[in-house]
Amino acid sequence: MPPTDSTYADQLLPRFDRSPTPYHAVRECASVLSDAGFARVVETAAFPIGPGRYFLERGGSLAAWVIGPRTASTTGFRIVGAHTDSPNLRVKPNPDGSVAGWSQLGVDVYGGVLLNSWLDRDLGVAGRVVVADGNELSTRLFLDDRPVLRIPQLAIHLDREISDKGLRPNRQSHMNPTWGTIGEPEAFTRYLATMADVDPDAVLGFDAMLFDTNHAVLAGLHRDLLVSSRIDNLLSCFVAVDALIDSAEDPGARIPMVCLFDHEEVGSVSESGAAGPLLDTVIGRVVASLGGSIDDTARALADSMVVSADGAHATHPNYPDRHDPAHRIEVNAGPVLKINANQRYATSAESAAEFRACCADVGVPVQTFVNRSDLACGSTIGPLTSGRLGVPVVDAGCAQLAMHSVRETAGARDPQMFRSVLTRFMCR
Ligand code: ZN
Repeated sequence: MPPTDSTYADQLLPRFDRSPTPYHAVRECASVLSDAGFARVVETAAFPIGPGRYFLERGGSLAAWVIGPRTASTTGFRIVGAHTDSPNLRVKPNPDGSVAGWSQLGVDVYGGVLLNSWLDRDLGVAGRVVVADGNELSTRLFLDDRPVLRIPQLAIHLDREISDKGLRPNRQSHMNPTWGTIGEPEAFTRYLATMADVDPDAVLGFDAMLFDTNHAVLAGLHRDLLVSSRIDNLLSCFVAVDALIDSAEDPGARIPMVCLFDHEEVGSVSESGAAGPLLDTVIGRVVASLGGSIDDTARALADSMVVSADGAHATHPNYPDRHDPAHRIEVNAGPVLKINANQRYATSAESAAEFRACCADVGVPVQTFVNRSDLACGSTIGPLTSGRLGVPVVDAGCAQLAMHSVRETAGARDPQMFRSVLTRFMCR
């Protein structure tokens, strides 16, 4: 019986804080994998041959896998997929501006942001800067967790109807943060240069994102709630990586693999997204490194399965009518299988059965989610992966509230249960 207390969730808290962007999430996961004996694979070099623990990074995405002593070129894969990105606000290329004495930054909205949740927060900035380094270009990550930015709400006296009619912020004009009253030309480029420790002229490109500087915490009277930014979907990323490390101790008959993708929140079509070739490429190269042919790759895939790990909607206590009455979902009650008749989730009867069998093997309860029939259903990397690879996929994850808020709420006992199940899945 696995531990079902909050100890593991407590250990995850600083990992959320260190991962405000997909690039930082990848660096965090790479660091954990390196500490567990995983060797970094460089895509421009030949793939390693022979048993071992390996990972590779591509931008905001990461793949990791374990080749055991019994692995053959036709051995199937047991893959856990998740995504590293979360909806957020991103700094525009020419961001500097000022209005009525306030210095402002222009920001774009990335993905399905719950805009109201970003107002009146203590916001920091993080991302990557590409700088000229002689004739070379080098990429540097930066993370400024000081509360340098904020987006103040409009006072209720200036919008008397807001409580009755709701907040409807305009994405272009109402979401721009201020960072004070002292304006200077090229302020953001200078700031980035300071962050990257280079001359402003050396800054040739950047991806900069805002984040809430509040730390992840265990909340509730009995500390049984996990509260953080980016629970969707860093929680799945961290749990998947830890489950892979657990499964590497005693891999089963198949190849355990984790693939963490960027750009899920904007449709996954990119060089590193789940609709791109990353996973196919890695699988093909792993099979080739085992001496396999195209036919061996097809045989391996025919014996493979994927868990698409992503957050699930817990039933909201204040809005129970937004959920199907026969499919109530609770936090701290075990992982959630997500099913959708229209294939917004990829779970089938067979993949659901496999997942339920894994839960039973490790003594963890499992819940089943369907959306209300009259509400449009969200989606995940599951259907994309199933469609690309032609393998069975199960969509599953930990229950949470306030998905896509800057600060989300999950159960503190669910992560350990999900980790046990994913470990079992990768070893089965
Ligand atoms: Zn998600």
